[in-house]
Amino acid sequence: MTETLTLSRYRLAAFLTCPRRFELRFLRRLPWPAAPLDARTETARQQGDVFHQLMERHFLGLPIIAEAIQDTKVKRWWSLYQSSGPKLPDGEAYPERSLTVPVGKHVVNGRFDLIILHQNSAHIFDWKTGRPQSEANLRRDWQTRLYLAMLAESGQALGTRLDPNHISITYWYVNEPDVPRTIHYSQTWHEQNWGDIQEIVAQIDAQLVQDEWPLTEDLDACRHCAYQAYCGRHEAGQANVEAGTEHENDAANLFLEPDLP
Ligand code: SF4
Repeated sequence: MTETLTLSRYRLAAFLTCPRRFELRFLRRLPWPAAPLDARTETARQQGDVFHQLMERHFLGLPIIAEAIQDTKVKRWWSLYQSSGPKLPDGEAYPERSLTVPVGKHVVNGRFDLIILHQNSAHIFDWKTGRPQSEANLRRDWQTRLYLAMLAESGQALGTRLDPNHISITYWYVNEPDVPRTIHYSQTWHEQNWGDIQEIVAQIDAQLVQDEWPLTEDLDACRHCAYQAYCGRHEAGQANVEAGTEHENDAANLFLEPDLP
C-alpha cells in the first residue's frame, strides 16, 4: 500500500497504542461502533461544542449576547472567559484554523481553536471544558507536540515562516480559569520532537510495506477498544470510558468519537 495518508494526533496516538487498531480503523476503515453515550456525557459534549462555536464567533468579531446563551453552564463559561480569560498577545487572530503539513510522503492535519500570529511568532490557544490536566501531562500530549511542530513546519502556509523559539500554546480550562497552562516551544525541542514524529511516520511506512500490524501487548488498551472481537481480546474486559467533551485522553477519545477527521 503506497497511498498518501492523512495523519492526525489521534491517528499517531492510535498507532503508538496499537498498530492493529490503526490498521483496522484507518486503513481498513472498519466501523468503530458509536458507543452509546449516557445523557450526562452527551450533554457535556454538546455544551463543549456550543462553547467552542461561541469562541469562534467571538474571534471572528461577531457580537456575543450573553443573555441569549440558553445553556446556563455555557453562559457561565462565557462569563468566566470574559472575567478570567488568558491574556492574549498582539497579532492577527485565526479561529478554528486547519493546517496540513507534509511529513515524509504523508501529511499531518490539525485543527486549532485559535492561532494568533505576529511577525515570526505564533501563540496557539486551546479551550478546554473537560478535566484539567497538569502541565507535565500536557507537554507529553500529542496535541501539544504535534501542534507546536506543525506550526514550526508550516512554512508559508500561514504567510510567514515561524521561529520555534517564538511559538507557544496555552490551554485554558473553564474549570480552572485562573490557571492557564502555557507551554513554550524551542528550536532544540523542535529538532527532537519533529525527529520523533518523522520516526513514527517512518514506522507506519515500514508497517505498510510489510502489511503486518501487531496487536498491542497492553491489555489495558484493549479494554478501551471496540475491536476486541477482531483480535480475540475479550478477556481484557470493557473499561468504563469516562465522559469528556474534550480530548482528555486518546483512549477515551478514540472510543467516544465514531468518526474522526
Ligand atoms: S482489541 Fe487490543 S489488540 Fe485489538 S485492535 Fe484493539 S487495542 Fe489492538
